[in-house]
Amino acid sequence: MLERADVLVIGSGVGGATLAAGLAASGADILILERGERLADSPQLRDARAIFQRGVFRPDEEWLDGSGTPFNPGAYYYVGGASKLYGAVLIRYRAQDFGPVAHRGGETPGWPFPYEELARWYTRAERLYQVRGALGFDATEPAHSEPYPFPPVPDEPAIAAARERMARVGLHPFPLPLGVDIERWLGRARTGWDAFPNVDDGKMDAESCALAAALAHPNVKLRTGARVERLLVDADGRRVAGAEALINGERVAFQAKLMVLAAGAVNSAALLLRSGAGGLANRSGAVGRHFMNHNASAVLAVDPRTINDSVYQKTLGINDFYLGDGNGGPPLGNIQLLGRVTAPILKSNLAAAPEWALHLLSRRAVDWYAMSEDLPNPESRVTVDGARIRLDWKRSNWATHRALVAALKERLKAAGYPIVLTKPFDRRTPSHQCGTVRIGGDGATSPLDPFCRAFDHPNLFVVDASLLPTSAAVNPSLTIAAQALRVADHIARHDLRTPGHDS
Ligand SMILES: Cc1cc2nc3c(=O)[nH]c(=O)nc-3n(C[C@H](O)[C@H](O)[C@H](O)COP(=O)(O)OP(=O)(O)OC[C@H]3O[C@@H](n4cnc5c(N)ncnc54)[C@H](O)[C@@H]3O)c2cc1C
Repeated sequence: MLERADVLVIGSGVGGATLAAGLAASGADILILERGERLADSPQLRDARAIFQRGVFRPDEEWLDGSGTPFNPGAYYYVGGASKLYGAVLIRYRAQDFGPVAHRGGETPGWPFPYEELARWYTRAERLYQVRGALGFDATEPAHSEPYPFPPVPDEPAIAAARERMARVGLHPFPLPLGVDIERWLGRARTGWDAFPNVDDGKMDAESCALAAALAHPNVKLRTGARVERLLVDADGRRVAGAEALINGERVAFQAKLMVLAAGAVNSAALLLRSGAGGLANRSGAVGRHFMNHNASAVLAVDPRTINDSVYQKTLGINDFYLGDGNGGPPLGNIQLLGRVTAPILKSNLAAAPEWALHLLSRRAVDWYAMSEDLPNPESRVTVDGARIRLDWKRSNWATHRALVAALKERLKAAGYPIVLTKPFDRRTPSHQCGTVRIGGDGATSPLDPFCRAFDHPNLFVVDASLLPTSAAVNPSLTIAAQALRVADHIARHDLRTPGHDS
């Protein structure tokens, strides 16, 4: 079987769906191939034990770690990708993140263009994802040309109290920019949304926002259950001719003028590596390398005298240590609230503890998330062994992360939380995976040019978290979405020659 499209997009997550939304008005025939299905409605959607203890939404798949030990990754293969379960923090990289930054653990290279180049695409991405937020509270916020489309998600009373406590010790909490319609979300059940899947319940994810906008155009089609196994090249090896996918056990070939790979940072790299000797788009040898995933810890601030009766909690960020450590030293990272950590969630990490005891603890805790930049290291990498993926993540810049957690701990104690418990996030959950097919100005060191076009193949684009040359220390999705819109505009004008597309 052979099917044809003008543009073939592989993956319907943040990168793929947003690119399709940006390209839809061009009128080109766009076909999105997605290995997963649409998430089905079920009672498990809001069942913390099913999600956190039994991992029911994880794939039936194993990857190998750096030592060759198999593990079940926290990867999500649904229409909408990982964003179906994400925390919906839709925050811009800071302007400084686009330049080189000196960290305790080394220097990040920066981007091939400055923040100003992406600023208007961030604005469009914020509109597409209906971001709730407020400007003027965070000194590190880069310039915005217009306010957020919606006011911020309100702090619950217990969180408003936590905000005041943090402000009293000299920190500057700001409203986290979020893609959540809180009334709709709580309408189904009173839970947080971070790591809970969304089935049209008010979370602004790749399916509910970008894909819905793309599919409103008759020229855009989605094929689910289509797992792409390899890309195909023309006889001269220069142009990517199509892709081969497994659909219901049958091998189907697709042909396209333009190919957009957006399968996520691990799977896109694996697909390129599997698609030719030495890997496609790999003159630089960088495909699969520079894997990054943020250094992150949960930090539970416990005050036995106060009850945290919040349901969703996740409305505050703190960037006081983002550009420096407060003492003239290098940056430490971002702090934000986690989604509410209830007893069943705690139990997924503390299996031996009875849930009633964890309930006593969680009722008295405010749950923070400390996140520091992971630096690009060529030895931190994705490789393939036949169908098997091997993810050898080499953490970097760990001293920075320890310093961030220590600084947060110190402020929390000063703010009156006598007990502060910390735990680094599990290595098996590459939630913020990125960097494996990065953009750059030089084809000798980066597979993609600044518009995500493969230096080696003029009709191949990679538009997902792989493209990020740095991880910064904020959540990645809005930056992926902004770049996807920028690339869509570039494709429409240069490859499809749609008149007046840049409107
Ligand atoms: C629990 C959790 C919380 C998070 N919270 C946040 C947050 O608050 N803010 C934020 O910015 N980010 C957050 N993230 C990260 C965010 O979800 C990702 O950065 C983002 O989804 C990455 O976009 P992507 O396009 O690279 O990949 P994805 O969105 O994962 O999309 C990749 C798509 O490709 C499909 N695919 C894979 N292989 C193939 C194949 N061979 N053939 C066809 N299709 C394929 C997948 O099924 C998937 O649909 C979170 C992630 C998790 C897991």
